[in-house]
Amino acid sequence: MTEYLILSAEDIGKYHPDKTLIVSVLSPIETHGKHLPVGTDVFIARKILQETCQIFSERFKILRLPDLCVGADSQPVFGSISLKYKTLKNVVIETGESLAKMGFKYWMIFDNHGGPRHQLALSDAIVYLKKKYQFVLVVPFLHIFQEMLKDSPQIEIPSGMNGDVNDLHAGTNETSLMLQIHPEMVRNYNLPKYFPSIRSQLGNFLRFLRTPELAVTVDWVSDPKNPYYLGDPSTADPERGKKMINYHVKRSVELFQQALNGNYQPPKLHNAIVRFLLRTI
Ligand SMILES: [Zn+2]
Repeated sequence: MTEYLILSAEDIGKYHPDKTLIVSVLSPIETHGKHLPVGTDVFIARKILQETCQIFSERFKILRLPDLCVGADSQPVFGSISLKYKTLKNVVIETGESLAKMGFKYWMIFDNHGGPRHQLALSDAIVYLKKKYQFVLVVPFLHIFQEMLKDSPQIEIPSGMNGDVNDLHAGTNETSLMLQIHPEMVRNYNLPKYFPSIRSQLGNFLRFLRTPELAVTVDWVSDPKNPYYLGDPSTADPERGKKMINYHVKRSVELFQQALNGNYQPPKLHNAIVRFLLRTI
């Protein structure tokens, strides 16, 4: 793996588009309870990038862009930095356009953020870049997050501990990942289990629109007792974190293979009404 920043333009020109994979981390700076750092998603994505690229490096030259520590729908509390849907989409599209115009074909983004407008921006950017430039952007976490929400048995981690709707943020899953990757950064995680006990008006509207996971997110950030996490950090353990990393790596390899076979598609997120609302509000 080579850092893009250290190359000259002449060096970059020597990379064959069919044999080169551009990779980067893209995740926001976001408050993760009191027990995890604001760079949690970035640190997790970096680890998955490193492990996945070890596998890809047998077949591809890997060029690593600098980390893009940006994202939409960071939890709107002190410490978080958040971009709008459109800003994020433009960052991704315009970066992808630059790569496509140089002749590159493949870009993989490693991420660990499930914000609804964040994911929609990435998904929309994938579709745009493919249509306009035949440029293939693969974002494994878009798929993995849907699988977490559905408690996919393939993950082999029980419900409530696998990043599903009962463990959405800085709970068992993310605390386990950080105990595995950077235990020195994890503060006291012996914290009470939290799930929002209020039902907000917007949350009820989202339940009506059949997007229960978005409803829970809205209830959570509207709750005056929000502890800045959702789940049960106290049951975290590094082995579970290792299992989740292995799952991310496995899915990243599978999805890139689909891209090479010409049949990679981003997942369909939400329904048409919710997508319209997320793009416009
Ligand atoms: Zn996170």
